[in-house]
Amino acid sequence: MDDRVIFHIDVNSAFLSWEAVHRLQDLGEELDLRTIPSAVGGDMSKRHGVILAKSIPAKKYNVRTGEPIVDALRKCPNLTLVSPNRELYARNSAAFMEILRRYSDTVEQYSIDEAFADMTGTEGLFGSPIEAAHRLKDEIRDTLGFTVNVGISSNKLLAKMAGDFEKPDKVHTLFPDEIREKLERLDRAMDSIREKFGADAVRRASFLQKDRPDI
Ligand SMILES: [Mg+2]
Repeated sequence: MDDRVIFHIDVNSAFLSWEAVHRLQDLGEELDLRTIPSAVGGDMSKRHGVILAKSIPAKKYNVRTGEPIVDALRKCPNLTLVSPNRELYARNSAAFMEILRRYSDTVEQYSIDEAFADMTGTEGLFGSPIEAAHRLKDEIRDTLGFTVNVGISSNKLLAKMAGDFEKPDKVHTLFPDEIREKLERLDRAMDSIREKFGADAVRRASFLQKDRPDI
């Protein structure tokens, strides 16, 4: 089973990116929401609405997905907030999945903006796994306007972990023989987070904690 090639494809800041592309391409706006502190907020009329997605500049203000909008605005008073648009998300998700199905016969949608694709045996068509991942990622970016991360491994769990490495618009591998080296690098990153922001910051980096005990 170890010679399988599995991709995990994940749209970067999906709801926010899809709204940004919609405004640029369909509404002719010039401002790209991805370049400013911005977020999609649910139920913005109510004070208890939460952040559903945020831009990378908003992340720098420590705006977090799932936190109340009021808290996010306290940390980042100039945060541009936009309302969710389910119909837009459904349309983009379908277009995204359609491209994936051109690359693999076995695509498993995992959430609205994430999927696994079994790329085993496609070298003849698309080149090495890394070449294929770049081709797929670039095609999505160039035709649909938003970026994805592609994680590559021989199983779904490791592929998903690889997809969580540096974002956006990146391809990463995490094959079983790379685990030691790459997770040591993560450990060092965690040490520096601990040093800079305190022990609690590491606990908050839940993606590390959630995934690591399972390897
Ligand atoms: Mg995503």
